[in-house]
Amino acid sequence: MNSELNEEAVEMNEDDDEDEEEPKERDDDGDDGEEGFSVLSDLPVEMSERRPTCRRCCRPVKVCLCPYLPPHPLDVSTCLYIVQHPAEESRVLRTVPLLAACLPPGKCRVFIGRRFSEERYPELAAVCRDPRSLLLYPGATADNLEDLSTDFTATPHNVILIDGTWSQAKDMFLRNALLRLPRQVQLRSAPSSQYVIRTQPTNMCVSTLECAAVTLSIMEKNHSIQEVLLKPLQALCSFQLQHGAQIHHSKEHLIKNGQYNKIMPKNKRKIRRMQKLISNQNI
Ligand SMILES: [Zn+2]
Repeated sequence: MNSELNEEAVEMNEDDDEDEEEPKERDDDGDDGEEGFSVLSDLPVEMSERRPTCRRCCRPVKVCLCPYLPPHPLDVSTCLYIVQHPAEESRVLRTVPLLAACLPPGKCRVFIGRRFSEERYPELAAVCRDPRSLLLYPGATADNLEDLSTDFTATPHNVILIDGTWSQAKDMFLRNALLRLPRQVQLRSAPSSQYVIRTQPTNMCVSTLECAAVTLSIMEKNHSIQEVLLKPLQALCSFQLQHGAQIHHSKEHLIKNGQYNKIMPKNKRKIRRMQKLISNQNI
């Protein structure tokens, strides 16, 4: 059994209640938890233990997913701009590098941070002010992408996605005025997540890669884009499941089946709120 794979699976299992955190006030420089980090960062680092990483898919070489990537980048006219919470960048399992590896250079730009000001991010600011830009973020003011009459293949558009947990994305949307400038869209027919190894807060919540795959398929009028983009994600999940990871149902599924309290005794108040929400939806 490959211990490296097991190690990855364990690391991944440990982070799955990350979005349990109640949304809280943070400093603009994002230094929450810095004290703990500085203690960890004082520990000596064994350079020889660093695992070699594939430059294309950003995965450890032994579990490289490049064989599942398309031989040539997908020909798309839409440009993706991903605003990524800093915690996503350090995750063991990240889907954005896989997405970027499937697209032509320059069609998937990533901006890492919590706060995006006009001054510090002029390129992102210009995209947010561009009338051909859409922000993919669900909400009462969002239009369904599938219902828009615009021919996105005639005029190339930009799509901005927020990459983070549910609460991180919400925080970033609410606190960045720039992100509220573009037309807000959502997916009416979001698929049930295939990303089964990371607990999703609700059944409707999918990974950034899955959102991008569906969005590009709609905008480029080409369903095969979705299949090509989801292939490395399916391979990633299957690798992990073969090496000890467990299928994680969404929290919504666990709550409905009365399994949530047992595995995560903390945050009972939040669980009660979600139970109430779900029972209200079922009436
Ligand atoms: Zn690779």
